[in-house]
Amino acid sequence: MDFSLPDELVALRDAAARFAAGEIEPHARDWDRAARFDDAMIGKLGAQGFMGIMIPERFGGAGGDHMMFAIILEELARHDGGLALAVEGHNGLCCQHIMVAGNDEQKAKFLPPLARGEQIGSWCLTEPGSGTDAAGMRTMAVRNGDDWVINGSKQFITNGDRAGTFVVMALGAPAGGRRVIHAFVVERDTPGLLTGQPEEKLGMRSSDTVTVTLDDVRVPEANRLGAPGQAFDDVRIVLQGGRVMISAISLGLARAALEDSVKYAHERTTFGKAIINYQMIQSKIADMACQIEASRLMLYRNATALDAGDSPGHLTAVTKVFSSEMATRACLEAIQILGGYGYLREYNVERYLRDAKLCEIGEGTSEILRVLIARAVSKQLGFEAERPAS
Ligand SMILES: Cc1cc2nc3c(=O)[nH]c(=O)nc-3n(C[C@H](O)[C@H](O)[C@H](O)COP(=O)(O)OP(=O)(O)OC[C@H]3O[C@@H](n4cnc5c(N)ncnc54)[C@H](O)[C@@H]3O)c2cc1C
Repeated sequence: MDFSLPDELVALRDAAARFAAGEIEPHARDWDRAARFDDAMIGKLGAQGFMGIMIPERFGGAGGDHMMFAIILEELARHDGGLALAVEGHNGLCCQHIMVAGNDEQKAKFLPPLARGEQIGSWCLTEPGSGTDAAGMRTMAVRNGDDWVINGSKQFITNGDRAGTFVVMALGAPAGGRRVIHAFVVERDTPGLLTGQPEEKLGMRSSDTVTVTLDDVRVPEANRLGAPGQAFDDVRIVLQGGRVMISAISLGLARAALEDSVKYAHERTTFGKAIINYQMIQSKIADMACQIEASRLMLYRNATALDAGDSPGHLTAVTKVFSSEMATRACLEAIQILGGYGYLREYNVERYLRDAKLCEIGEGTSEILRVLIARAVSKQLGFEAERPAS
């Protein structure tokens, strides 16, 4: 078992780090205040191959894998969690759903502009009345000749304000007494698709989050993704990868907190000494470093399993709970190490904290993931635990 990164991944990591330091770091604080990253970033990310990381080259992508995506996301999140979330929602959710469930014709039609960064994509599952209980959605898709007519409302949609392509989940007619969920590609200019004003958020502010309303939106059968009525299975597969990527964002934010803390602790003096010399400060830094190391090992193990086609099972939930909560703790400790300055907007650690908190909520809250973990562990030990039902 070799835990070292191969040379090509080290080169990718270094290239992503250079890009993020040059193109993101100088603007991240302004984007946080303005609640929007520059539109030009989408094309710049595309030019780096970061908008089609896991899309095969024949569909315009970089032909990479989960491991490559995780490494890139850590570097982007090191400088701006919001931008990393936008790239994650685009690649990990929207493009991945088309990759997982689309046929070759759909991939050839929808993926190239997304992969090249000509447009950004969004993925619409959550609704005003259903988040954790996603199967409780109310958006309806009704078959009408060769088309489907979709009505409903989606909530908290990342990239929705400027997305060109939306993957939308909707309820179909029940079959055999069971709820049936379909997934559709809806293009921006489709009549009846409306997006709301970007939400005012605590963190991840440089990414936009909007409501998406579907009012008699008509799409052809050719835009429906996957086997009829099986979209929820595809959603589970997409979320498995998405949760690994939220862990990568958590890791990048925790690393930002650690790096800023170490730098500050060496510069700041009290009682005639740099504060790094105090064991209580060292202890905080050491705890952050230990947890970051553990989180990165879990992340790489998860990403490698996905790339090998193995199901990581409940390890993904373990990684996301651990990494996201670790990131929040690391950011809180960073604020403590910076003292009063950590509480000011002039320093970045308060932004890291606001960004990190989202990682405990998006793509599966810590609570529901703990339910999944407890159920899986019970099963491993021969016990059956109750399943949450819609
Ligand atoms: C910035 C941001 C970006 C987002 N981007 C997207 C996106 O691009 N696409 C998309 O579809 N969605 C997106 N979401 C939605 C996100 O995935 C949901 O907010 C999340 O799944 C939680 O759903 P909810 O907010 O409805 O909370 P609820 O489901 O209402 O949960 C409220 C609380 O109850 C707890 N809870 C619920 N059920 C259980 C249970 N069975 N056991 C124990 N505790 C439980 C939850 O853990 C939580 O603490 C985004 C959200 C945010 C804030």
